[in-house]
Amino acid sequence: MNFQYNEKSITLQSRVRLFMEDYILPMDEQVESFYRDPANLWKKWPGLESLKEAARSAGLWNLFLPADYKGFSPGLTNLEYAPLAELMGRVRWASEVFNCSPPDTGNMEVLARYGSPDQQKQWLTPLMEGKIRSAFLMTEPEVASSDATNMQTSITADQGDYLITGRKWWSSGAMDPDCKIAIVMGKTDFEAPRHEQHSMILVPLDTPGVQIIRPLSVFGYLDSPEGHAEVVLESVRVPKANLILGEGRGFEIAQGRLGPGRIHHCMRLIGMAQRALELMSERATQRSPFGRSLDTYSSIRQEVARSACEIEQARLLVLSAADKIDRVGSKSAKDLISMIKIVVPTMAATVIDRAIQIMGGKGMSSDTPLAHFYAAARSLRLADGPDEVHMSQLGKGTIKKYTRPHE
Ligand SMILES: Cc1cc2nc3c(=O)[nH]c(=O)nc-3n(C[C@H](O)[C@H](O)[C@H](O)COP(=O)(O)OP(=O)(O)OC[C@H]3O[C@@H](n4cnc5c(N)ncnc54)[C@H](O)[C@@H]3O)c2cc1C
Repeated sequence: MNFQYNEKSITLQSRVRLFMEDYILPMDEQVESFYRDPANLWKKWPGLESLKEAARSAGLWNLFLPADYKGFSPGLTNLEYAPLAELMGRVRWASEVFNCSPPDTGNMEVLARYGSPDQQKQWLTPLMEGKIRSAFLMTEPEVASSDATNMQTSITADQGDYLITGRKWWSSGAMDPDCKIAIVMGKTDFEAPRHEQHSMILVPLDTPGVQIIRPLSVFGYLDSPEGHAEVVLESVRVPKANLILGEGRGFEIAQGRLGPGRIHHCMRLIGMAQRALELMSERATQRSPFGRSLDTYSSIRQEVARSACEIEQARLLVLSAADKIDRVGSKSAKDLISMIKIVVPTMAATVIDRAIQIMGGKGMSSDTPLAHFYAAARSLRLADGPDEVHMSQLGKGTIKKYTRPHE
């Protein structure tokens, strides 16, 4: 395996690092306190657009999309993009500045790969330009949604249109004032074979019948301005042309969406964990309980050392998954993708937890990014599908690989 970064990636890493240092880190405290103020809930921080403009002018825009779409992206491989996403992950709100935020990245990939030319013109172009944002509505409160076959939302043909009825929740991004479009997964045929019942359809959020019921909180964080919404869809009428790819193709699209767009979370989590390691190391040299500096205690050195090892192990696993996706595609890289989804959120939550402990009381407060990082890392043991589902798939595949078929 050769994870030596090429010239293109090294140059972009130093440009993203500089941009983070010059434009993003200096604003971090201001942005976080803006979003903490209840008066600013579901509003955008006023300085965001000028930062987006600066990133776009610097060519640091849409770095995530492996194949270029109409000159909007530099067309990096996943291996080239991974260290850039890691740098963005160091600050919670940074990826939007580079137009590399979830769930838009996954949605843009879906539209670039499966959207019709009209769908791309209407929705992909403004998303790539960073003019609008999007949401992905799959999970439902009434059923165990880690098994998507349980889904109850119906998409019914009606007089040349589709009518959509259902209730979704954890729709990340749907609270954002710029969120204009959702990709909704539902069933077009409840009687078809299990994996041919589902379809995905584009629903503009201003369509009559779409009701945003409430924002959900993650350990008390509302994650404004994107938020995570509960959404009711009541006889929502959209044209037939809004269906993506075709009836019954929802699982096929979902499988495609499981690739690059979903490993970006892991890349960003490495960045969060790395920042936590740096913060705990720095703090250890600043405090002296019981007569000596924290960094001289062997227990503290062990926590720092363990964290450094675990981050590097996870980073290499993520790079290995990115490299395999680039070489042989997401389908053949599915075991490595499962592995990083199992390993990285737990690793990041553990490292961040150690940093919180070493910080003392300060670590629990909003005076450092750690508490919010912890909530984000912990929630990713669920948000991208529960750990157990990834383990079940990987375990089943691994057993099959190492055993003979039953006689
Ligand atoms: C912060 C956050 C953001 C999210 N964003 C989105 C989004 O944008 N769009 C969207 O559609 N959804 C989103 N989700 C929802 C997320 O994808 C679901 O919560 C997840 O898929 C689990 O579904 P569920 O909540 O219905 O849990 P359930 O399906 O009820 O599962 C509950 C638990 O059962 C156990 N379990 C399930 N399957 C197995 C198994 N095979 N073996 C052993 N145990 C098992 C696991 O412990 C699991 O956590 C988000 C969630 C969070 C927390």
